[in-house]
Amino acid sequence: MTSIEIAWILQQISDYMELLNENTLKTNDYRKASKLLKKYNGSGYEFIKEYSSKRKHTFHIDVIKDIQEILKTRKSKRLFYLKQKIPRNVQGLLDIPGIETKVIKQIYNTLNITNLHGLEKAAKEKRIRQLPGMGSKTELSLIRGIDLLNNPRNIFPLGMATYIAKDFLHILTNLSNVKNASIAGEVRRAQEMIEKIILVVKCEDKELTARVLGKHPLVSKVLQSNSQMIGLLTKINLPIEINFCRDNFFFCLHHYTGSKKYLDAFFKKLDTANLNLTNLDSEEDIFIRANIQFISPEIRESSEVLEWSKERSIPELIELEDIKGDLHIHSNWSDGVNTIEEMVEAGQKKGYEYMAITDHSRTLTVASGLSIEQIHKQHQIVSEINKNLKDFNVFTGIEVDILKAGDLDYPDQILENTDLIIASVHNNLRQDEETITVRVENAIKNPNVDILAHPTGRILGRRNSTLINLERIFSLAEKTGTALEINSSPDRLDLNSENVKLSQKYEIPIAINTDAHSIKSLQDIEFGIKTAKRGLLEKQSVINTWSKEELKRWLRKKK
Ligand SMILES: [Zn+2]
Ligand SMILES: [Zn+2]
Repeated sequence: MTSIEIAWILQQISDYMELLNENTLKTNDYRKASKLLKKYNGSGYEFIKEYSSKRKHTFHIDVIKDIQEILKTRKSKRLFYLKQKIPRNVQGLLDIPGIETKVIKQIYNTLNITNLHGLEKAAKEKRIRQLPGMGSKTELSLIRGIDLLNNPRNIFPLGMATYIAKDFLHILTNLSNVKNASIAGEVRRAQEMIEKIILVVKCEDKELTARVLGKHPLVSKVLQSNSQMIGLLTKINLPIEINFCRDNFFFCLHHYTGSKKYLDAFFKKLDTANLNLTNLDSEEDIFIRANIQFISPEIRESSEVLEWSKERSIPELIELEDIKGDLHIHSNWSDGVNTIEEMVEAGQKKGYEYMAITDHSRTLTVASGLSIEQIHKQHQIVSEINKNLKDFNVFTGIEVDILKAGDLDYPDQILENTDLIIASVHNNLRQDEETITVRVENAIKNPNVDILAHPTGRILGRRNSTLINLERIFSLAEKTGTALEINSSPDRLDLNSENVKLSQKYEIPIAINTDAHSIKSLQDIEFGIKTAKRGLLEKQSVINTWSKEELKRWLRKKK
């Protein structure tokens, strides 16, 4: 039995103990052991030896005893008894994708909700957001997660697929028999919607790899398992394909990353007969040996990209490391979960130089938009925070609603005295093309507006774009100097990559923001970057790759 298999059993034990309000310290010990085992490189026996030595008295004695039992019998009596104490429906709540146990525990214990239907109802009635530490985003995640379980579909948003793919990759890279592994396919290319997760792995003992992955808590069925690949089906109906690579890992990675069109063109257009692609040291090696320009995984979609690569005309695309700050962030002053201080600290940890706190404006009452008094107060607090910061700047900001006819939700005087203004449409999304376009045009004509956020308003898989005429907006933004946003939230990806391409026919600045409502969502920036790369965007067009001083200059000029 591998460490990860033991870890999954301990995880289940800790989940059930938490749900049943058992001794917190002991529950935490099970969870801690599970986490450590997930990363542990040795066997379960070695783990016990290490963690029950005199020096490291880390866990409750029952944790060690249970691991011994699992190693001996492949089962846990404790898990068996815990399961009997929890109704099946309640166990099912833990299967909701993307929701942590502590959320379910709180809901189960305080609202006494015992099944998916009841939980969905509570979320729709906005009763979840009243619990401490939860917001409207938690409700939305719950509604979506439950919807996924109840209505199996065959296409999934990038964010969710990436989250799952990374989890499987993490498991693979921690198995001692695995030499190399990577995410490939649609997820690596960062397609907006994903049909199948594809991973590649080079390993010894394929049976072991297959057995372990088949036991993953998210897997409902092993579809296929042979010497070439493992096919799995997850509980949300998203298939996962793990391909075994022979010696040539990087060739294999390239092969399983590109789209069919791209790969056909690769072999057709290049003189592959005379190309030696054995013993590669990296994926880049393929392009070096073929004497063509490197093609980022995100753009290995079409055949024409190979033409550009031959001509060496692919622009130098933006990279994650180029981002110096995040300019669209919510705090718990409006509908965010964390305090301003917590968001700032998280931004510093990410190595940023600046961020803007942009809470919602007063009309958006569903998101606790700020009153004018609150804005003044928040500005004071931000200025206090800035006094204590070295090498980091917090910009005051507002995500101001564009009202029905295009006027903004605060008087100009408020906007003028704020460092950065984001304007966005949240209501009346079904206006006809002319109405919504004129509405947004009116908004960006206001010189105080620096960025137009999530320009089309779409929510992937749930809500279509508005009928806005983007070419007209781009053309006006070029004149007013307004930046357009790539909203990195994996539900939005708005602008999308096609619109990013279109935007670059005009001279308009772009901002790649997360619209984070919690610390965790700050990491969504990776999806914005990938979308930008698919849209062939270069670094210098992106305002949050600029230094603090450059950005300040731009903001001043804009006013
Ligand atoms: Zn918004
Ligand atoms: Zn926002």
